Amino acid sequence: MMQIKIHNTLSGQKELFSPINPKEVRMYNCGPTVYYFAHIGNMRAYVFADILRKTLEYFDYRVKQVINITDVGHLVDDGDAGDDKVESTAKKEGKSATEIARFYEKAYLADLIDLNISTENTIFPRATEHIGEQIEIIKILLEKGFAYQTSDGIYFDTSKFEGYGKLGNINISEQKEGARVEKNSEKINSTDFALWKFSPKADSGQPARLQEWPSPWGRGFPGWHIECSAMSRKYLDQPFDIHTGGIDHIPVHHNNEIAQSECAFDAPLANYWLHNAFITVEGEKMSKSLSNTYTISDLKQRKIHPLSFRHWLLSGHYRSPMNFTWDSVLGSQKALEKLVFEFSNLPNNETDEDTINQLKEFVSDDLNTPKTLALLHEAFGQKKSQKTISEIDKVLGLNIAKLANEVASDIPDHIQDLKKERDLVRHNKNWQKSDELRKEIEREGFVLEDKENDSIIKKTLSSLI
Ligand code: AMP
Ligand code: ZN
Repeated sequence: MMQIKIHNTLSGQKELFSPINPKEVRMYNCGPTVYYFAHIGNMRAYVFADILRKTLEYFDYRVKQVINITDVGHLVDDGDAGDDKVESTAKKEGKSATEIARFYEKAYLADLIDLNISTENTIFPRATEHIGEQIEIIKILLEKGFAYQTSDGIYFDTSKFEGYGKLGNINISEQKEGARVEKNSEKINSTDFALWKFSPKADSGQPARLQEWPSPWGRGFPGWHIECSAMSRKYLDQPFDIHTGGIDHIPVHHNNEIAQSECAFDAPLANYWLHNAFITVEGEKMSKSLSNTYTISDLKQRKIHPLSFRHWLLSGHYRSPMNFTWDSVLGSQKALEKLVFEFSNLPNNETDEDTINQLKEFVSDDLNTPKTLALLHEAFGQKKSQKTISEIDKVLGLNIAKLANEVASDIPDHIQDLKKERDLVRHNKNWQKSDELRKEIEREGFVLEDKENDSIIKKTLSSLI
């Protein structure tokens, strides 16, 4: 039996994967902050987590997966200052924080479905529904002397945790330099972070909070990192097997999660930490100010099918940075469409064992999707069976068989009529008329595939959107 190798940020190396329970893998993926639509960079994190899940399932593991929904506590500066992201949108839009959070959560879940990300049995716990669990951990940290109170909240004392910064070998003194700009003089160390923040006092002149809860220390709300420690422990226990997120989470968010959980419960938080690299757009960092934070709806508006974007994502390894361009994603759409059109022409006989062995070899090697994608295209070129293709697609999740079915279904009557007319003129060797009719069919957004005696009409991927 082939064993999976994955790159563990904790050791900085590729390691043989061995779960705590040999049959079941427990995995936590840091989820979205639901204050706006997720952009295509965010979606890379979830497609990557999905490839990991599908690979584990392909290797016969049961996967217990948690993706948290951050609906409170993530502040605009990603640190301990500034507005709460969800509250800030709510105030701007004149809605309640819950309305905003639920709206963007729903949009996020729809994006997952569009991208064929598996969600059966995935647990999506919300931070706001686990306030009690978060308070419990903070109590323990205070009792054990790892936390202290200031005038604006409860903070974790990073100097009390010897392993602070071990994930990704973070240089703590550099981190401290970076944190100096923050004007929070009551922190003992600049890397200390909020576990609980107090709501502004009624007479402070600051706007009141929309979401706040009572705690043993005063009304307020949890810091951003504590929700992950609390919810992973509740649903996956501690330690669990795999924790993922984007590389931006390594220096602060994930090191803070580790610090809290290890100090509170004297056990590691997770055994394997996996991180995806970032995507840039047309060579630039994604940012609101550059208006390049494209969403799945933006792709759809530009007639890019979400699964074409998935194809594009898989052409890069999850640990390599990728640069998104409209041309490159259009190229992926063309490549995927070719496979989808070709699928029904493939034989439907046995699975090709050599191809499957290669599939296993590639995906088990730290999820090498570029090689697996090349294998898929090669298998089409060599006219391997539909079963072989569907086997590869169990891991890649491009949904080729389903798309092949969709592009050939529900062709409108007037297009069918044009096709029949063209088949006839073609049969009579009236090439000029035949060409005209082909063009008319294509203008309507359909593709014509000539066979020996007749033809087949298919929809394009963009017309399925
Ligand atoms: P957030 O909703 O901001 O908490 O981010 C959700 C996920 O997206 C996190 O795992 C981030 O690390 C990841 N992420 C954010 N921006 C990018 C990007 N440009 N490329 C890849 N991943 C990203
Ligand atoms: Zn997290």
